[in-house]
Amino acid sequence: MKYVSTRGKAPILPFDDVLLAGLARDGGLYVPETWPRWTRQQIRALRGLTYAELTTEVIRPFIGGTIPDAALARIVTDAYAGFGHPAVAPLKQMGGDRWVLELFHGPTLSFKDYALQVVGRLFDYVLKAKGQRVTIVGATSGDTGSAAIEACRDREAVDIFILHPKGRVSDVQRRQMTTVPSANVHNIAVEGTFDDCQDMVKAMFNDAAFRDRFNLSAVNSINWARIMVQIAYYFAAAVALGAPDRAITFAVPTGNFGNVFAGYGARRMGLPIPKLIIGSNSNDILTRYFTGGIMETVPVVPTLSPSMDIQISSNFERLLFEFYGRDGARLAPVMERFRAKGTISFGRGRWQRMRKIFEGTRLDDAGTRDEIRRVYRETGEMLDPHSIIGLVAGERLRAADGSALVAVATAHPAKFPAAVEEATGVRPGLPPRLADLFERRERYDVLPADIGAMKDFVTGRMARKVVSA
Ligand SMILES: *Cc1c(COP(=O)(O)O)cnc(C)c1O
Repeated sequence: MKYVSTRGKAPILPFDDVLLAGLARDGGLYVPETWPRWTRQQIRALRGLTYAELTTEVIRPFIGGTIPDAALARIVTDAYAGFGHPAVAPLKQMGGDRWVLELFHGPTLSFKDYALQVVGRLFDYVLKAKGQRVTIVGATSGDTGSAAIEACRDREAVDIFILHPKGRVSDVQRRQMTTVPSANVHNIAVEGTFDDCQDMVKAMFNDAAFRDRFNLSAVNSINWARIMVQIAYYFAAAVALGAPDRAITFAVPTGNFGNVFAGYGARRMGLPIPKLIIGSNSNDILTRYFTGGIMETVPVVPTLSPSMDIQISSNFERLLFEFYGRDGARLAPVMERFRAKGTISFGRGRWQRMRKIFEGTRLDDAGTRDEIRRVYRETGEMLDPHSIIGLVAGERLRAADGSALVAVATAHPAKFPAAVEEATGVRPGLPPRLADLFERRERYDVLPADIGAMKDFVTGRMARKVVSA
């Protein structure tokens, strides 16, 4: 298995190089050269496997022999060993043939753990095999930073620096980052905004000497390995509900289009998924595209579901690649035009073909609160402001085609306690393994929004490392 760029010009790479590269050198995203295609018999053979065993089977063809089978199985088993539920990704029935797939039993309570716990270990394995180290640098407004820190803590070949805007992330989110006691984890509270944090990260990457000296890297949502690992939970849920002998419709709350693109990957591999329904908050660029056929960027507004507050869904480029005949040379100028103009149609025929698979609808903040309350009254289940958007989209748009509906729940309600309490009158509690989060000791440094100070800080921390190594 090799990987090609959606823009057609970057070198074709094996999995281990794609893992470390992240973005392709031509500005595109890496995708598999071909999709593995499984028979119904192969899908049936997944029945009865543990979540870790099933994940190993699903991702093996994408690794393409760059990691030996036994090592891969060990990595995946270890990644999910600490999850808070023995099923790892349990299904909960919400009504007749309606299910929620709970992807919030990882260390930081969001679905991002499901990919990042594996990806952090893959990084460590591949780096050690190549005799390299990396320094991961990232900015976070909440969820991604904690999931990345948990994924990288104690990994020998990795240091991780996460910048968050001081005083502007929730207490739960900050403590999930700053109470990790590992020596390779560096938290920086920046006296500024999230944009200041992002600008400083960009500036570090744009300084070629600095970037090369510390071998800077990122684990952001455009990394192919994250999508690959996420394909597994679509298989796990579908097989548990009777696939391939039953069709399953999935509903997914969407920001960068990464999660739902993994569902598309599962469909390409042969899973019977008639429809992928996406839920948007008020930042609804994708819903507007699928309903109206025009993709247009507008300014971001803050919502109750901050992890979906995006202007552009970067992973959508991977879907476009498929619908442009997997021809990067054709897609590259289209993406450049979109970037320059902020609006584009991608053609009517293409839009109609996409709509046979994808549909979307949106829920604003008032609707989000109302629906959290309704579902809590009807079922006793508390859904977080992201997960409810997926479930409601699925309920509204599912076809009467006999398929079961699975709504992907992307965060634990206790990650967004204020919104959930406001809607239900009940404050959701943290699960037992995080119950002492507010007693744990915090560790972070405060820096001004100043790139010189930031580079000095990173340099100082890394210098100590080299001496002690
Ligand atoms: C990141 C995130 C999303 C959006 O996922 P994408 O892959 O970007 O579509 C949705 N919900 C939660 C809780 C998240 O953390």
